[in-house]
Amino acid sequence: MTRAFNFSAGPATLPEPVLRQAQEEMLEWNGAGASIVEISHRSAEFMAVAQQAETDLRTLLGISNDYAVLFLAGGATTQQALLPLNFAAPGQRVDHVVSGHWGKTAIKQARPYVDVNIAATGEADGFHDIPPRASWQLSSDAAYVHITANETIHGVEFRDNPDVGDVPLIADFSSSIASEPIDISRYGVIYAGAQKNLGPVGISVVIIRRDLLERSGQPRADIFDYRSHAARDSMLNTPPTWNWYLAGLMFKWMLAQGGVEEFARRSAAKSARIYAAIDGSGGFYRNEVAVAVRSRMNIPFFLPSDELDARFVSEAKAAGLLALKGHKAVGGIRASLYNAMPLAGAEALATFMRDFQQRHG
Ligand SMILES: *Cc1c(COP(=O)(O)O)cnc(C)c1O
Repeated sequence: MTRAFNFSAGPATLPEPVLRQAQEEMLEWNGAGASIVEISHRSAEFMAVAQQAETDLRTLLGISNDYAVLFLAGGATTQQALLPLNFAAPGQRVDHVVSGHWGKTAIKQARPYVDVNIAATGEADGFHDIPPRASWQLSSDAAYVHITANETIHGVEFRDNPDVGDVPLIADFSSSIASEPIDISRYGVIYAGAQKNLGPVGISVVIIRRDLLERSGQPRADIFDYRSHAARDSMLNTPPTWNWYLAGLMFKWMLAQGGVEEFARRSAAKSARIYAAIDGSGGFYRNEVAVAVRSRMNIPFFLPSDELDARFVSEAKAAGLLALKGHKAVGGIRASLYNAMPLAGAEALATFMRDFQQRHG
């Protein structure tokens, strides 16, 4: 068996020890006589797994009891629709700052329910920068301000927590959660689909400052109500138990590796290798993002022609470097460097980039 270095943007690579443990426990979990996916979510066994995952995530991210932590079926896009339903009154204004593709989907999901004000957008310049805070046209009466902490497709990442005063800041951290310490207290809500940095697709983590759960929001079914989910420990209906369990293994692995401080160091080192290969290529490789907001997690870049882009992807695959094709919205190449990607993977890619340039530059 050969596991290649997998640069997929999501669903993404997972650590081998996590997959091995899941494999070992697949037929029978912890003496239960059945696997974890074959027992009731309300059984004492699964409740303990679920509780432990929450405890470990709280430790990993430093989440205080002022915040509820929900584990919900579905992806980040689902949360983008639930946010206005739960935190804004019908037709109320919400402010969105758009720094890439996922900021646009957040608006699309919110528009049926609220009056979306685009407070700032980097679209006119191709999302190569984050609009400076001073240029944001925030509303005086907004229910919240929404940002995307890391734009997975455009490779643009907030490098600070923007100050929006007393209005709750809601951030989509899908592709950068747990890659560095976050000052949770600066946010009203942090949400993330798991399939980038936290585990398998199918489950999302939503971290909500408890006072926001008191907002009446809009008429909505119970199943779309964060307050109901919080009151029932995310077991209002059958949760995605396998995904929750696997995310729990991932949290334990991240804690054992040294936690978010360690992943901040690794993310800086890994991304520095790739940016050095780009910047040292004399223009053969191009990344167009403003240096101050370059993503540590997702690095899009371009070769001199579409033909070379395609050749790069196929030769890289043959060399054991997978899933480097850029998203169709921007083209080119994209290397994703989530927590489960070792430094050796980034080094192998940087070496491959230099070799490829020598052969084709
Ligand atoms: C992947 C991603 C999403 C969409 O996630 P789904 O699980 O497909 O809904 C949203 N936001 C960001 C930042 C992402 O990286």
